[in-house]
Amino acid sequence: MESNVSANLPLLLTGATVIHFDPPRVELADIRIRDGRIHELAAELSPQEGEQVVDLAGRWVMPGLVCGHHHLYSALACGMPFLPDAPVDFADMLAKVWWRMDKALDRESVELCGLVGGIGALRVGVTTIVDHHASPNYVVGSLETLDGALDQLGLRRVLCYEVTDRGGPAEAQAGLDAHKQLLASVPDGWRAVMVGAHANFTLSDDTLRACGDLAREAGVGVHIHVAEAAGDEVLVGEPLIDRMERLGALVPGSLLAHCVHLSPDELQRAYDAGAWTSHQARSNMNNGVGYAPLQHFGPHSVLGTDGIGGDMIAEVQAAYFRSQEGGVGWFADRFLQTLHAASTFAGDKLGVTLGLIQPGAQADLLVLDPIPGPPLLGENLANAIIFRFTSGMVRHVMTGGQWRLWDREPVGVDQLAVDARARRAAMALWRRMLENDQAAR
Ligand SMILES: [Zn+2]
Repeated sequence: MESNVSANLPLLLTGATVIHFDPPRVELADIRIRDGRIHELAAELSPQEGEQVVDLAGRWVMPGLVCGHHHLYSALACGMPFLPDAPVDFADMLAKVWWRMDKALDRESVELCGLVGGIGALRVGVTTIVDHHASPNYVVGSLETLDGALDQLGLRRVLCYEVTDRGGPAEAQAGLDAHKQLLASVPDGWRAVMVGAHANFTLSDDTLRACGDLAREAGVGVHIHVAEAAGDEVLVGEPLIDRMERLGALVPGSLLAHCVHLSPDELQRAYDAGAWTSHQARSNMNNGVGYAPLQHFGPHSVLGTDGIGGDMIAEVQAAYFRSQEGGVGWFADRFLQTLHAASTFAGDKLGVTLGLIQPGAQADLLVLDPIPGPPLLGENLANAIIFRFTSGMVRHVMTGGQWRLWDREPVGVDQLAVDARARRAAMALWRRMLENDQAAR
């Protein structure tokens, strides 16, 4: 496909309406890009020799979005065979849907999950994905496979494997081992690794302690589901934050996903320990696990999709509407802060500045087709994102100064070939699920 920009050319984007999230601000400016980063931001910059000029007059430019908690491994799940008896609660949903599906993932399907989920995210303006991966029959090597797929697309990623005891001690050890090669690699701004852990109720004391130890040794956090359903604490038989403290698993920089059933005191202790929390409104509604006490979530909170695609605009809108219904008292500006916070979180892991359009920050940008209407101002930006924006506005996406989506088409990736492979891989995955069901009977 034809992109109008090739790799690493010095670039000047002119005439764009530039949207800043932190603090909310809108200005007309030109953007000079050098070596993958924003070099200069000012009105009416003059083109320099060797610079390619891209006229963005009339378009909106905003920071690339970060999905703070994703499960790319679910990317081939839509259409998979269901069991005749529907899940009755969240634990049953894991057993009958997700743990049945993830066991059938192999190398090919994991790679396709990365490509398909990654393209889906790119097309709706996501430039960085914080992922939580599981494929119990392809554990060691799975993170490298996902990493390679996302690298092809030019997406930044914070990866981990969700360690669990549900498949026994050898599988738990393999989950820990799955991190080691990438943890030892040199940080390059594109990939970071956390230590993944599924959830307290599928982890023995020893395994959860080992996750904390590995994370602390590597200087990274633990990425774990915490108190997603009310039953989690009952299954464990101990308050979850108490347990994580006792086992040394509440490591600074950790990411606690969901936290639907934590008390204000527990959320405060997690925050004081340097952990972040993530909120997935659509997933919580889909799983019927209850409404997270957002009013007690601290500033170190991010939004994620929990595997329901990559659309962070749809996610922030759903989170806002659910909060209005829930009487949380968060205004739209707090949701904009939380949407932006994932850039701070992921940028810290990756060792780069994300989410800001300013000199020195990575050139991870979206070019949007504006929707005609009232003037877009800093004062109304948060409300505009809730009530006016859609991910359908995303026309071009850049990461590290290179176009990754141009005119809504992924650059450098044959989307039709990926689609053909994905259809084959999905059908093979679903067939393995049915074979596994038969073998279990
Ligand atoms: Zn999750």
